[in-house]
Amino acid sequence: MKEKIVIALGGNALGNDPESQKEAVRNTAQNIVDLIAEGYQLVITHGNGPQVGMINLAMDIASKNNTDIPEMPFAECGAMSQGYIGFHLQNALQNELRARGFSIPVVTLVTQVLVDQNDPAFQNPTKPVGAFYSSEEAERMRTKGFVMKEDAGRGYRRVVPSPEPREILELESIKLLLAAGHVVIAIGGGGIPVVEEDREISGISAVIDKDLSSAKLAEQVDADTLIILTAVEKVAINYGKPEEKWLDQLSIEEAEKYIEAGEFAEGSMLPKIKAGLAFTSSRPGRKTLITSLDKAIDGLKGKTGTWILS
Ligand code: ADP
Ligand code: MG
Repeated sequence: MKEKIVIALGGNALGNDPESQKEAVRNTAQNIVDLIAEGYQLVITHGNGPQVGMINLAMDIASKNNTDIPEMPFAECGAMSQGYIGFHLQNALQNELRARGFSIPVVTLVTQVLVDQNDPAFQNPTKPVGAFYSSEEAERMRTKGFVMKEDAGRGYRRVVPSPEPREILELESIKLLLAAGHVVIAIGGGGIPVVEEDREISGISAVIDKDLSSAKLAEQVDADTLIILTAVEKVAINYGKPEEKWLDQLSIEEAEKYIEAGEFAEGSMLPKIKAGLAFTSSRPGRKTLITSLDKAIDGLKGKTGTWILS
């Protein structure tokens, strides 16, 4: 059996607009096909911050300027971003595979992730999304039930909660495709957040952290390794300080100790360490690698990156 890996792609693997994204994914595809060529079985996940922001902003501006254009719910914006990013990744991976003589199917799955309506995150929305509004406009938005917060002197923005991922609804399809030898792109942007009420599942305005969702997916597809690819080659303690130290390896105990000491920035490195901790400690033998896109192969060979090991 080939080793099974879940790879989470960070923002730098994708770029910020359609042109730069197309360019960025070409490079991303080369690095990923290097892994496929080594024989690994892959599920690819990715962030969607700039992309869902762009889609949501465009939809906000459209409906602000033309009352005939309805507001686009945030979950639908997330679904659009999965399709848009999935298209570029699928396209670039297929081209790269073909160029190297591989005949391996690649597919993107629109993925819903169940969250708990009672998650405390719903009492404290933190993620700013979409357009900026004046205080009068913000007041009007509040009457529609949106939570609006002042954003660093630039105006008011809507904020959405960031709840924990509970269940990946398309898990069985992901497993089936993997078992059939497909490269699967799934849970883009952490997944489309949905809640269950009276046995009915529906989209909700929230953002699920893609690193935490990726750890959950890695557990549930019974992956051997979770790789989180980001802008840095290694994780540091005293990050950005004179006594900065890059780490080759972190035990579960060390990771917990450093989290406690506030070594990892909230919203960037902290969710990656938490994701790694969750996956590595979920079963003996499971391991997590945090490194940069172009170091993935070297990292897997133990030459670089930061490993979270049990
Ligand atoms: P991604 O889009 O890959 O999720 P993020 O910007 O969310 O990227 O997180 C990666 C960033 O976390 C790095 O580029 C780095 O600037 C920052 N970071 C914060 N704390 C640390 C740390 N202790 N060690 C390394 N990088 C850190
Ligand atoms: Mg991030």
